[in-house]
Amino acid sequence: MLTVALSKGRICDEATPLLARAGIVLGEDPAGSRRLCIATSLEDVRILVLRAQDVPTFVEHGAADLGITGKDVLLEHCGAGLYEPLDLGIARCRLVLAAVADAKPARPRPRVATKYVETTRRFFSGKGIQAEIIRLYGSMEIAPAAGLADCIVDLVETGATLAANGLVVREEIAAISARLIVNKAAMKLSHRRVSSLVERIGRAAAGEEGGCT
Ligand code: ATP
Ligand code: MG
Repeated sequence: MLTVALSKGRICDEATPLLARAGIVLGEDPAGSRRLCIATSLEDVRILVLRAQDVPTFVEHGAADLGITGKDVLLEHCGAGLYEPLDLGIARCRLVLAAVADAKPARPRPRVATKYVETTRRFFSGKGIQAEIIRLYGSMEIAPAAGLADCIVDLVETGATLAANGLVVREEIAAISARLIVNKAAMKLSHRRVSSLVERIGRAAAGEEGGCT
């Protein structure tokens, strides 16, 4: 049995049709089901539906052989034991630094609100700036107006939420999309099965029909 850990929410919505093109049809719709382990049209492939941040943890520990999650999550995870063979080209957005449009010049130690604490720390220390990082779990966009932080690091797609909260993009930190990850030991021990799955998902991501190989 091969287990694929799939990030729920937006990535799941876009990955489900991609997996179907690869010949991996989910037995039920994760959005409409309470079941967290879902069988597929391939009798030796099952899907675990997880919180995005938990996908690399399951794959790293071998509780899942493969995983699908956002590059933002992988940048933050910093773990070992994972291959990242495919950019699936779905759930595209950008990780950006954003601030109030008419903000005063940055102070020497800017306060930055984000849920991407590690990535933000690396980004600022790469510039020789020691930022004060304030961890939030959501609604980052309100932090500057509320006086909690000078700026935020968050994902944007259209920028509409930023604009609605009086924020503008100051810098792009990374281009984000969903990635396929693979447990290193599984790649070695189940090489044929895993690499054939990676190949068919790769073909589906490239827009070709995965077919019945
Ligand atoms: P919640 O928003 O329910 O608290 P979450 O933030 O973990 O949960 P999502 O918002 O579905 O879940 O985000 C999961 C992943 O989807 C992110 O890690 C990112 O890779 C991707 N994603 C998030 N926002 C966007 C976006 N605006 N456009 C494209 N992809 C996105
Ligand atoms: Mg979210």
